[in-house]
Amino acid sequence: MKVKIGIDIDNVLAESYPAYLDKFNSRFDAEVKLEQIREFYFLNRYIEENSIKHGKEMVDFIDEMVFDEKFQLEIPPIEEAINVINNWVKKGYDIHYVTSRPVEIRKITIDWLKKHGFWVQKAKVDLFDSEKRYQSDVPYKKEIANKYRINVFIEDAIEIALGMEIPVFLFDRPWNQGKLTKNIIRVYSWQEIEKKMTTVLGDFGDKNFECGLQE
Ligand SMILES: [Mg+2]
Repeated sequence: MKVKIGIDIDNVLAESYPAYLDKFNSRFDAEVKLEQIREFYFLNRYIEENSIKHGKEMVDFIDEMVFDEKFQLEIPPIEEAINVINNWVKKGYDIHYVTSRPVEIRKITIDWLKKHGFWVQKAKVDLFDSEKRYQSDVPYKKEIANKYRINVFIEDAIEIALGMEIPVFLFDRPWNQGKLTKNIIRVYSWQEIEKKMTTVLGDFGDKNFECGLQE
């Protein structure tokens, strides 16, 4: 059976939060720093609390950026991920990108993946479809992981990592600090993920011998 790796996009492959913050700070003359983002929806809350002066313009900021094709295409990639993913493809692993971005920006998301060399052979991408009425992105990502029998997941959202029943590499970010369950490995670089991947797949293979996981 094939090894399938599930990979989140924003803040795992793409430096998204810094890109949104740059735009936000320059447009609204604010000074929100990445280190302040101790929970993922910090910026949403900040907007709620500070929108009196700027009104609707500030309230609509995140949505506007999500659907701004130029902005989306220009989000910088995390360069070190490109090599690691290509090495996995050479080993025969399947890559499945699973993002909470809305399904409406599927094309621009694929364009971005292509632009940076992430759109590897047989790559798949799933985006969040609000018509499917998931309560949040946690059950959505969990369902995709089950449906496609993804073996390992790479993520930055702690809620999603905690909701998964498979091993998860959690990319260390200011907003995902705190206690982790046994299936989660906190990591600081893509090189570290690459190094630890074989062990994680090995452990998983032992426990699920019938799956016959092999490289
Ligand atoms: Mg993310």
